[in-house]
Amino acid sequence: MFTPPNPPPFLPAGRLAEGKRTDIISLCQRGSRPQPEGEGDKRYNFMNLVLHVDEIFLKGANQPFFYRTLTKNLQNVFPGTTAKRIEGAIWLENFKEADLNILKNFPGIANFAPAVQCSADMSAIGAAVDKLCHAQTAGSFRITATRSNKSFELSSTQLERTLGQQVVDKYGWKVNLGRPDLEIHVDIGRNGAAIYGNLIDGAGGLPTGSTGKVLCLLSGGIDSPVAAYEMMKRGARVELIHFMNQTRVSEQVGEKIFDLTKILARYQGKTKLFIVPYGELQRQVVMKVPAAYRMIINRRLFLRLAEKIAGREKCLALVTGDSLGQVASQTLENLAATQSAVPMLKLSPLIGRNKRDITNIARAIGTMDVSSRPYEDCCSMFVARHPATRAKLSAVEKIEQGLDLSALDKIAPISYYIGSN
Ligand code: ATP
Ligand code: MG
Repeated sequence: MFTPPNPPPFLPAGRLAEGKRTDIISLCQRGSRPQPEGEGDKRYNFMNLVLHVDEIFLKGANQPFFYRTLTKNLQNVFPGTTAKRIEGAIWLENFKEADLNILKNFPGIANFAPAVQCSADMSAIGAAVDKLCHAQTAGSFRITATRSNKSFELSSTQLERTLGQQVVDKYGWKVNLGRPDLEIHVDIGRNGAAIYGNLIDGAGGLPTGSTGKVLCLLSGGIDSPVAAYEMMKRGARVELIHFMNQTRVSEQVGEKIFDLTKILARYQGKTKLFIVPYGELQRQVVMKVPAAYRMIINRRLFLRLAEKIAGREKCLALVTGDSLGQVASQTLENLAATQSAVPMLKLSPLIGRNKRDITNIARAIGTMDVSSRPYEDCCSMFVARHPATRAKLSAVEKIEQGLDLSALDKIAPISYYIGSN
């Protein structure tokens, strides 16, 4: 059995490391937002954030569409927040501190930081910088000023020098332009200024829903939830399909798939899940297909069923968690024999990734623990002692002729629409 090694931290939290959380706290307001019903007297910290977009920068005239998609996604996934585009960034208000880990992996964001806004005049900016520094324990710092408002009274360099001197005089910190403990950002726009500290790395990519819709084949394993997430980061809206062994249905399996869907919904909002009762076809495969070919034929049946649903759902591709060479069904020959079952575009975003990278991502996005729960996937009964590792399509097609594929049309999937909690 694969035992995941201890990972290096995935998506490092920028230079705002553990010890510097005062930066965040100082810019939070405790319980400033009305609590949802049922939350009792639990109190949260709320903050405002500056978010920088990732690949949206590469877009030309389409940028407004991508920004709109991202702000909509943020408001949808983090209810109670407001997100609006500001110069060169997104301003996100009323964000719950407890959701920061989700934000770190949110598709489309290059980096972000808790921030304060103030009017674009020197005394307000000086006060905001002081507020930021107040709760810090930094030994060194730098000021990084940008000025899209060119009519502002000082140039960026003058601004950096003036504010830098203010910080040296009050806190005695050393200026370090290379690797400061605290980088104080001062962005002067036309309608005000945003002040923030060290940036936290985001996951990057494109906002979910900006590139189209796909259907991901979700097993209960480690890989396919990560494949779904990787597609979200490429801007796809992802629907999920799971093939369930009806003759061996266990609550554990159902719960596991629902729990994985809930976690994936953190990154794109409510998510459609199809559960396919697959028992009938599975029995046929066991009875009529030689053991060495069962896995491949089974996967081809998955693809055929998935393609039907994808067509109805207007999904433009099928996604799997295949990774080249990881198991017998993932040799080049077997992948080719499997994928030729349907003409629809098939995407396997993990095809070139190592298991270690995949498990690191699974840990970062929160699916690893659920994926590691024991359960009996319908595929586990197809694992042969000596599987064909170089399946020939002609042999596969010949075996398939002995199957009654009309059963494919009789299967009625059950669909669910699942949010993150
Ligand atoms: P995973 O960790 O996602 O299960 P894996 O490395 O175990 O992947 P396989 O079991 O060979 O790989 O499955 C390859 C791919 O086939 C999965 O990533 C998934 O996309 C799809 N798949 C396998 N079993 C199922 C299932 N029961 N329902 C839906 N898709 C499945
Ligand atoms: Mg699997």
